[in-house]
Amino acid sequence: TSTFPLPPAPPSSTPSLLLTTHTPTSTYGTIIIGGGHAGCEALSSSSTLTETLCITQNLAQVGELSCNPSIGGIGKGHLVREIDALDGVMGKAADLGCCHFRMLNERKGTAVRGPRGQMDRDLYKSAVQNILKEKENLKFLEGAVEDLIIEETGEGKVIRGVITNTGESILSSNVVVTTGTFLGGTLMCGLERYAGGRHLRDSEQVEPPSNALSQTFRKLNFDIGRLKTGTPPRLNGDTIDYDLLEKQGSDPNPIGFDHVRQFKGLRLPMEKDFITCFKTATNEQTHKLCLEYEHLLPKYDGADGDGMGPRYCPSIYKKVQRFPERNGHNCFLEPEGINTNIVYPNGMSGPYPPEIQQKIINSMYGMEKTEIIVPGYDVEYDFINPISLKHTLETKDIAGLYLAGQICGTTGYEEAAAQGVVAGINAGLRARNDDREFIVGRDEGYIGVLVDDLVTKGVSEPYRMFTSRSEYRLSLRADNADLRLTRKGVEFGVVQDPERVDALEERKKEVERGVSELEKFRLFVSEWNEKGGDKMGGTFSASSKKKSVKKSAHEVLRMPHVTLSDIEEIMEVEDPSFTPVSLNSHDTVEATVKYSAYLHRQEKDMDSWRKSQGLLIPPDIVYDRNNFPTLKEEELQLLKKFRPGTLGDANSIQGITPQGLVYLQQFIRKRG
Ligand code: FAD
Repeated sequence: TSTFPLPPAPPSSTPSLLLTTHTPTSTYGTIIIGGGHAGCEALSSSSTLTETLCITQNLAQVGELSCNPSIGGIGKGHLVREIDALDGVMGKAADLGCCHFRMLNERKGTAVRGPRGQMDRDLYKSAVQNILKEKENLKFLEGAVEDLIIEETGEGKVIRGVITNTGESILSSNVVVTTGTFLGGTLMCGLERYAGGRHLRDSEQVEPPSNALSQTFRKLNFDIGRLKTGTPPRLNGDTIDYDLLEKQGSDPNPIGFDHVRQFKGLRLPMEKDFITCFKTATNEQTHKLCLEYEHLLPKYDGADGDGMGPRYCPSIYKKVQRFPERNGHNCFLEPEGINTNIVYPNGMSGPYPPEIQQKIINSMYGMEKTEIIVPGYDVEYDFINPISLKHTLETKDIAGLYLAGQICGTTGYEEAAAQGVVAGINAGLRARNDDREFIVGRDEGYIGVLVDDLVTKGVSEPYRMFTSRSEYRLSLRADNADLRLTRKGVEFGVVQDPERVDALEERKKEVERGVSELEKFRLFVSEWNEKGGDKMGGTFSASSKKKSVKKSAHEVLRMPHVTLSDIEEIMEVEDPSFTPVSLNSHDTVEATVKYSAYLHRQEKDMDSWRKSQGLLIPPDIVYDRNNFPTLKEEELQLLKKFRPGTLGDANSIQGITPQGLVYLQQFIRKRG
């Protein structure tokens, strides 16, 4: 059983790869507060553009995976590929730390396939630190920021720097805050509550919360709320009866996340040591325990004591409560790395007292003798409603102050990292007096969907990415993130690696070649099978001319269930000089052809939408009955609250109807 609560831990004795290189009296283009996933990406992109300082509580914890040992998944994997297309850290580090890889939704369409890698926690963290160590303009300081230096000018408030826990003032006109779950953090296990941002990994020691900074944001009148999230217990793998459990193997040809590595045809470095995961499930006994000990769960500050947690990653208690008809929930047993026996039971968060967590774990098949190494716990923390941010993630009220990551109400490493990229680039540009804004459109990437959803709709529960959040998901695929974003990264100065640019150009050519070969090549398609919709076994072949019609390979590939590999098999037989599409462009060629009709229509829709969404809404517009006699009251209130800058922004507000947009557009055009 646990000996909670414990006093805050001193900085970890685990050596960090990052040197403390800040010298007092230095000033910086940008300061990034926090070395989590948002912080690391912000550091990477900002330091490519300007002299940057990272101030973080514990250098050894830079790049730490606080909860699950995995990166990616459906929607999240798309974000990682986009971060990588902009030369971010996460994709590269994930490939280096990967010890098990699966392409989720492999059998579904390319648009919804999600790459997911399981990480060796140590390898991932040291990969992140090694990547950052190579950055020339980047310095580190171990410490906590307690206050912000803000100047009132004739044009409003501007940030001038930060004050640390040692009382040092460090100056910068651009500050990115990425404090994750630490702002006003309270940890909970059973009915015990204790101050903390999170536990040190696999330990009962606590990293201190960021309370002084939380007070600073309150004084500055930001709209602050409380959210919670939880992590399951960690298990001793030597005490799990794996022989009884279903195995979950890794994909045979794992592709990973890093575009440059894929382009070079390199395999994932740890591939030959890949681990196997296992699957068990809860049962009636588990559910009985969850309900029996409900009264020992923490009482939270938010949602009337119930806490506002991630809807799509609920605790085991919430699952049992929400789905009483179900007699089992899956639990995936994921080893935390290659050289450890510690296992993460995915799906089993639930901050019961440690002895109850032990009973719950032991109630499951194959886990009867399993020991908990450290119990799971919840954290409840302050978040700042991202409605107070611009699309650059700069705060609307304080020039030069940016927020990114879990502080903005999101959940997950990938969502945090994606915001870090945006805030880091924009802060870096501002530091160079470059007045361009780095904004990813909703039609350009999931990063754009994420930021746009956050800043226009705000957050009332932890926000997680899904492919269904995008109206352009056929074009925003994990396989084409580089084609969508790398050129933009070059224009804004964050993609400087010549190999990445070469990889992009070569891939573009390869995709064009692949599509054009399919347009030229003609093959016979059996009429019967065409109508029947069957695939192989005579659907199409180059030789069976009887009762067949000739079609281009491009047309045939658009038939349901026909794959590019099927067609290439025939092309190779027919034309010995034919070269198949290279592996790293295979999915992109297939999707480009398969979805061509839809993509064409979508392109037209995007075009007309782009034209109208840019329409500026005058900032002095008065949202009242006088100006908008026919607008619904709810819409009027929403427009008054969010004050969208363009028609596109107005469209993103939940509750604004297409009819409401028409009234607004008519009003703006009439005013001239
Ligand atoms: P973090 O990774 O939390 O990093 C914040 C960084 O800021 C830390 O380095 C910290 O030391 C530093 N910092 C804080 N305050 C200061 C200060 N004042 N001065 C200097 N440095 C400071 N993810 C999921 O996807 N699903 C989950 O269900 C989930 N559950 C979780 C449960 C728990 C208990 C915890 C701790 C994490 C959980 N996570 C979960 C993962 C995680 O919280 C985030 O999704 C992710 O780490 C957010 O990244 P971030 O960069 O915003 O913040």
